Parts: sequence; structure tokens; C-alpha cells
Amino acid sequence: MRGKADSDLVRRQNRRVVLEALRFDGPAPRVELGRKTGLSPATITSITMQLIQDGAVIELDDIASLSDGAKRGRPTVLLGLNPDAAFTVAVKISIGMLEFALADFAGIIRERVEVPIATYEMLPEIFSRRLVSETQRFIVSTRVDLNQIAQINVAAQGVADTRSGLIAWSPAFKERGVPVVGPLEEAFNIPCTLANDANMIAEGLIARRKLDFSGTTAAVFLGYGIGMGLVIDGAVYHGATGAGAEFGHMNHVPSGALCRCGRAGCLEAYASDYGILRSAKNLPDNTPPPPHAVDSQVMAELEAAARGGDKDAIAAFQKAGRAIGFGLARMIALLNPDRIVLAGAGTRALDLIEPSLRAAIDEGVVAELRNNLKIETLPVGKDMIIGGTIDAGMRRLDSEVYAIGPALPVEAKKELLA
Ligand SMILES: [Zn+2]
Repeated sequence: MRGKADSDLVRRQNRRVVLEALRFDGPAPRVELGRKTGLSPATITSITMQLIQDGAVIELDDIASLSDGAKRGRPTVLLGLNPDAAFTVAVKISIGMLEFALADFAGIIRERVEVPIATYEMLPEIFSRRLVSETQRFIVSTRVDLNQIAQINVAAQGVADTRSGLIAWSPAFKERGVPVVGPLEEAFNIPCTLANDANMIAEGLIARRKLDFSGTTAAVFLGYGIGMGLVIDGAVYHGATGAGAEFGHMNHVPSGALCRCGRAGCLEAYASDYGILRSAKNLPDNTPPPPHAVDSQVMAELEAAARGGDKDAIAAFQKAGRAIGFGLARMIALLNPDRIVLAGAGTRALDLIEPSLRAAIDEGVVAELRNNLKIETLPVGKDMIIGGTIDAGMRRLDSEVYAIGPALPVEAKKELLA
């Protein structure tokens, strides 16, 4: 029995590394796959044959990619992921907006739609019903058979409980406890996941090898809210319920400024767009945060005012930098990261924030703990959440579905499309 279990494990591991090599580097001949994965020619032959039989991999005759000399001989057969093997639906839930994307097995987005809906005032059960109906409408519009959809992956702002499938708290909703996974799985009978949007950006950064994420990296997203994707030894850290690395809601000042989450003194209440705006306008700390995102033009004007010498604006950005810096100092003492990456729309004001941010790190943690730490910035596009959600979905398909065997995991509810 033991031998059988071991050989299954090896086979699964081999299938996964071949799929990952094709996903990261694109189509390749068998010889090159062997070199990339370190597997023997016999193993590559056997594994790729299984993957072709299971429909995950296809043979491509790519003569164009060969040199003139090679074209005269037998064309080399390239192997690539079969785009039609399975489809993934990615959903992004943010304040006032649902976004849908359909990606094929090669990770290419085939269709995408934005649906503005007034999330904030919606009762949880009303939102859940709307989520199901909009998902159904989107799937119908793509003309892809429901049985071809392997998974629905949802990314949401705020505390997304991966275990219960509920959005525990989010700036997108006034109410708490919004059911997501349950209603979608019940309606479509397709496996569904829920994750925090910042964690999905981190997944995307790893998958696209934007940076070397081999060690411990904290990616901090600055903007309307303050988020973090924490990568430990190359994998995104989600915590027990998916709420890991809620950097913006670490306490900065006990009983301090009012945060969107309802607590007082969170880091975000000082460092997010609304926090910076509130302090620049000298409004009281308990002024409720606006339910909607601060207009980027308003922030651009505030940045221009600070650069022009406006003392209140300068002080507000310095206060933000100090809040982020002390938060990072605590995290550095706890986790000893290799690298901190600052990303998001808020990095436009980095020149205004960075001096006080670095001063706070220096003040907050001894030199020995931060000597080798690198701080980098990375422009992060709007698409990184949907893109990262798809990337995470593809990794799940590679390692949990196609590494094991053929076909889609369940029979979807076809009658929904009838
Ligand atoms: Zn908070």
C-alpha cells in the first residue's frame, strides 16, 4: 500500500511541475520541458502523454519558431496548455462594483464585464441573490458551457473569510457577514473560493514573477484603503480564516482616529486617502470616513498643494508616512522580512510620505533587525486583482485538479442555462 501511495504522490508532483513549466514559460518541446523540470526523458514522455489524454495539454506544430536549418528536418512538436481544457470565472467585489472575467486554461481572459451596483446599502441576502443572478448572466453571455467552468473565484475588499465563505467585513458593505461562497456553490454546483483582494494581488505578483518572492516579502498597498499581501517562503500567507496580514487595521494609536472598520486608531485611519484628507482639512479624528473612494483628482490636488508648500497638506502626508513606518517597524520585528514593496495608487505621493516612513522605521526597530531590508516600489495596475485571482485559480487547477487526473471536478447544474 505504501508503495502505491508514494508512486501516486510522485506522479502527482511530476504532473504539477510539467503544468507549471508550461504555464510560466509557454509552449516548449519535450526536451526543453525535461531540462526545465529536471525530469528524465522517459518520465516526460509518460507524463505528457497522460496530460494530453486528459485534455490539459495539446501538441502544437510550431514551425515558425524553428531556425531555418531545423525547418528542413522534421518539425519539432511543441507542447502547450490546452486553452479549452477548463474555464475559470473570476469575480471582484468592491464598493459599488462587480467585475467578472472568464479565463481559459492558458490563463487568457476571454470575456470581461463590469456591473455597477450599489453594494453599500444592500442587505447581505439581497446582495447574495444579485451576485448569483449577475454571475449567471455573465456565464450565459460568454456562451461557455457551464460544465466547462471548473471554478468560480471571488476576490473582495476587506475581511474575506476563506473558511466560512462570508465577507466578514468590507468597506463595500454597511452590513457585516455577506454570504458569497454558499449561494454561488448552491446555484451552480461549481467549486467556489473567496479571498481578500490584496492577497490576490500578491498571488498575481508571484505567478507573473514580477519580483523575486523566494523569501519573506510584504507588499503594502496604499490608496483608498491600506492592504497587505504577505509572502512567506514564496507563498501568500492567508492566516487561519483568510484575514491574515490586515496591515491597515493594525492599531496605530489606541483610541485614535475613526477607521472605516468602526474601530478607533487603525493605521488606515491615518494613512489611507480618506485619513490623509481628513487630517489635511483639520477635521476632527472622529469624522466618519466617506463610504465611497476619494476621487483621485482630489488626492492629486492635495499632493500638488503639499509639493507647493501647504503646511497642513505636508503634515497630513508626513503623518501617513509615520503611521505606515511604525506599522512596518512592528512587522519587521515580528517577521524579519527580506523586502518591503510599496504599491498602489497612494505611491504617487511617495516623495511626500517616504522620509517620515523611513524615519519611523529607524525609530521603531533596532538597526540589526533592518540592516539588510530592501524597500522597493512597484506600480500596480487596476487589473492586478482580477489577474491575481485568475493566477491563483490556475495554480489551484494545476495542483489540485489536473495534477491528480482528468476532467472537471463536478457535474455543474446544467438546467440553469436551459
Ligand atoms: Zn480599521
